[in-house]
Amino acid sequence: PRRTAAPKGIVHVEVRLNPYQALQTPQIRSIVRQYISENFERAEPGAEVEGWEEVEVLRGCAERIVFAESTLPDPFPLLSEVKLVVHVYQPSNHTGIQEFAATTGDEDDDEDNVMAATVQELPSRSLDGLWESLIYTEDIKPRLLNYIYTTLLFSDADVDFNIITWNRVVLLHGPPGTGKTSLCRALAQKLAIRLSERYARGRLVEINSHSLFSKWFSESGKLVQKLFARVNEMVEDESGFVVVLIDEVESLTAARAGAMSGTEPSDALRVVNALLTQLDKLKHRKNVLVMSTSNIAQAIDSAFVDRADIKQYIGLPPPEANHWILTGCLNEMMKRGLMENINLLDWKTCDKVREKPAKQSNLERVRQASLRLARISEACQGMSGRTLRRLPVLSYARYMVSLSLAHPAFDDPEADEGAPNRPGY
Ligand code: ADP
Repeated sequence: PRRTAAPKGIVHVEVRLNPYQALQTPQIRSIVRQYISENFERAEPGAEVEGWEEVEVLRGCAERIVFAESTLPDPFPLLSEVKLVVHVYQPSNHTGIQEFAATTGDEDDDEDNVMAATVQELPSRSLDGLWESLIYTEDIKPRLLNYIYTTLLFSDADVDFNIITWNRVVLLHGPPGTGKTSLCRALAQKLAIRLSERYARGRLVEINSHSLFSKWFSESGKLVQKLFARVNEMVEDESGFVVVLIDEVESLTAARAGAMSGTEPSDALRVVNALLTQLDKLKHRKNVLVMSTSNIAQAIDSAFVDRADIKQYIGLPPPEANHWILTGCLNEMMKRGLMENINLLDWKTCDKVREKPAKQSNLERVRQASLRLARISEACQGMSGRTLRRLPVLSYARYMVSLSLAHPAFDDPEADEGAPNRPGY
């Protein structure tokens, strides 16, 4: 649809190219924009763009096209009212994760090797779809993304650091299993895609603070130095963007509190100070972001917390988010042929039809099933996202697997035709 007035907002579209394609981004971008405007009236943020395989050029070069975020509250913005921004990216050929061992000095002794961090090239195929799969009822995801954009904008404008400061550190805290680590990874991926015009490559360095710290306590100070020496090397290359993820940061920083109270050796203090010094050095670089997670916010060193520009609490999902997550799980089961197809109603519609039985029996069946899922979503209050995502397997094992033993996957190719080959069936 042709736009008539100034756009009311932006809809981002992400195009993943196959690895064989030589990048010709501007051309691909305009073909995608044209395809979408000719074939769709509205965008559905978070959904795959369908049918693009019909376009020959795209068939030859693309692997996946999705409507990503929109800046409008409307869940299905009219394309005639928005500006489409198309991001084209190509996942790295080195998709593998490189483990980074920091030795404690004696290079010959394997025992002294600590898996201190992993390094992953971005964008990575394995992280695609993670961002969409994380569901929060608050606007946590766009807020984080906007924060990064703002820091980039300020850096570009050469804002005087003595007047306005920021540290490029984000802290996500809250109960375990609420998607904090996943959100950091997904954000790193998102940045790599969004910034691909500007940075030729992205890297995600995940520091495993738990193993780094607990095992080699007295040597940890040196390890932190070595680790950050590597990070600094990567950041020196200004054509790349680096996201450093420090998971379970409380295990690094809780130590200082212990040192203060005299229960831990002063080595602990040195480690924390080493970490803080390194973080302070990074804040002057444009092409780095530090993300950290913690399950126990109270246990984190206050000097670390002070450095975080954003301290975001990530809580347990409310019923509406439970409903989203479970619906997603059921849709995946249907897609894979593990259960009968049914078009489940969304949360708001469930609320509307609660007291209104449908006249047609097939619609009534859908209504009943949807209301049941809504009741389950309420009953799941207090569960983490991680627990919810396990429920389908557990409930299938308990209630459905015995019914589905007739599935071809269970057939024994060795058995004589027609012979009963499944005990219990
Ligand atoms: P944390 O770091 O908070 O312990 P993880 O990032 O390890 O949590 O999350 C574990 C898994 O739980 C994720 O892979 C994700 O699939 C699921 N999960 C957790 N929270 C959510 C959520 N809000 N929406 C969707 N999935 C979630």
